[in-house]
Amino acid sequence: MAEGMRVQPDLEFIKYLKSAGGDTLKKCYQCATCSVVCPLSADKKPFPRKEMIWAQWGLKDKLVGNPDVMLCHQCGDCTAYCPRGAKPGDVLGAIRAYAYVHYGFPQGLAKLCSQGKNLPVMMAIPALLILAVWFLSGGMHLPEAGNIDFGMFFDSHKEHPTIIGGLTLNVLLIDLIFVPAFVFALFAAYKGVSAMWRDMASKLPAQGNFRPSAAQFVSDFLLPAVKEILAHTRFRMCGANQNRVNGHLPLLLAFIGLFAVTTYGMIRKDIIGMFVEGLHGPIPLSDPFKLLANVSGIALVVGIGILWMNRSRMEEENNATPTFYDWFLIGEIMTVGVTGMGAEITRLLGIPVLAYLFYFLHLMAVFMLFLYMPYTKFAHMVYRTFAMAFEKYRESSFAKAE
Ligand code: SF4
Ligand code: SF4
Repeated sequence: MAEGMRVQPDLEFIKYLKSAGGDTLKKCYQCATCSVVCPLSADKKPFPRKEMIWAQWGLKDKLVGNPDVMLCHQCGDCTAYCPRGAKPGDVLGAIRAYAYVHYGFPQGLAKLCSQGKNLPVMMAIPALLILAVWFLSGGMHLPEAGNIDFGMFFDSHKEHPTIIGGLTLNVLLIDLIFVPAFVFALFAAYKGVSAMWRDMASKLPAQGNFRPSAAQFVSDFLLPAVKEILAHTRFRMCGANQNRVNGHLPLLLAFIGLFAVTTYGMIRKDIIGMFVEGLHGPIPLSDPFKLLANVSGIALVVGIGILWMNRSRMEEENNATPTFYDWFLIGEIMTVGVTGMGAEITRLLGIPVLAYLFYFLHLMAVFMLFLYMPYTKFAHMVYRTFAMAFEKYRESSFAKAE
C-alpha cells in the first residue's frame, strides 16, 4: 500500500459479511496457503489471500465488482487447507451474496431476498397470487380421481376448457402469472450484470481504444465462457470437494432439459393449440418431450440431492458455515423437483387432493425460482457467466491500451 494512504473501512459491509457466513474473516493472518491451493490463483495474483485482507479492512469497493470474487466456484479447497479456520471460501460467498443485493434491482426486492427471516414473505407473495388467480378463475375445486388434468387447474372444471382468444383460460392465466415474472427477472438480471460489468471495467489498469460489437462480444467472450461452464472444466480442478461436479453437472443439464420442455409446451399449447384442437391437455407419456421432462426431473432431484449431501458434509466437517444464501437455493430447487414429480405421480395414481396440493406448491416454487433469481444464489448463473466473459475480455486486445 502506498505510504500515507488511508484505509476507510466500511463497517456496515464487514458486519454484513460476518452475518452472511464470513464471521471467520478476522482469523486470517495472511499465510497465503489458500492462494497456493486455489485452482484460480495465478503467481502474480495472490487470490484469495489479498481479498481476505481487503475484507478484513472493509474495502467494499475493491471487492464488489471484483471479477475474481465472482469467478470463485466455492470448491472449498482454500477453506479445507486454511490453518486458521478463516474459511476464505465462505467469506467470498458472503461477498457475492452482498454483491447480488448491491446490484439488485429493485433494491427493496433484493434486500427482501437477502435474509432468512423474510422467507415467510417470500413464500406468501406467490402463494397469495396463485390462490387469488385460482379463486378468480373459478377453478377452486378438486377434479374427480380419474380426471385429473392440470390444464384445468385455473378453470371452472366444466366438461370442456374455457377458450379465450384461441387459448384455454388455464394457459392464459399461467402465462399471465409466469411470463411477466420471468421477463421482470431477466430485466433485473440485465440491470445488475450491466452495473457489475461497468464496475469491473472501471478497475482495469488501462482501457483499449476499441469496443467489441455485440456479435464480437458474444462470439469472442460470452460463448467461450458458456462452453467452459457446460464442460465444468474448473469444477473438475476441485480437490477437497471433487464430488460436487457429480451434482452440479446433472443439475445444469436438468435445467437445460426443463427449459427445452417448457418451450415445447408453450409452442404446443400457446401457439399451435390456438389452431389445432386437442393439444391443450397433458402431454402424452409417449411424447419424447415428456420423456425428457421426466428424465430432467429425476436429474434435478438427484443433482440437488448430491449438492445437499455435500454441503451438509462440509458443514459437519466445519469446512463451511450454514447460511440462508446457500440453503435457500438448495431447498428451493429440491422443492421444485419434488413437488413437480409428486404432482405427476399423484396425478397418474388418481389422488386429486395430493395432486392439486403438489401442483400448487410446484407453481409457488417455480415462481420463486424465477422472480428471486437475480438476488439469491441462483444469480451466480448470470453473474459468474459474465465474470468469466469479462475474464476473457480483459485479456483481449479490446481491453488493452495501444
Ligand atoms: S485465509 Fe487462511 S490460508 Fe488464506 S491467508 Fe488467511 S490464514 Fe492463510
Ligand atoms: S473456494 Fe475454491 S475457487 Fe474459491 S477461492 Fe477457495 S479454492 Fe479458490
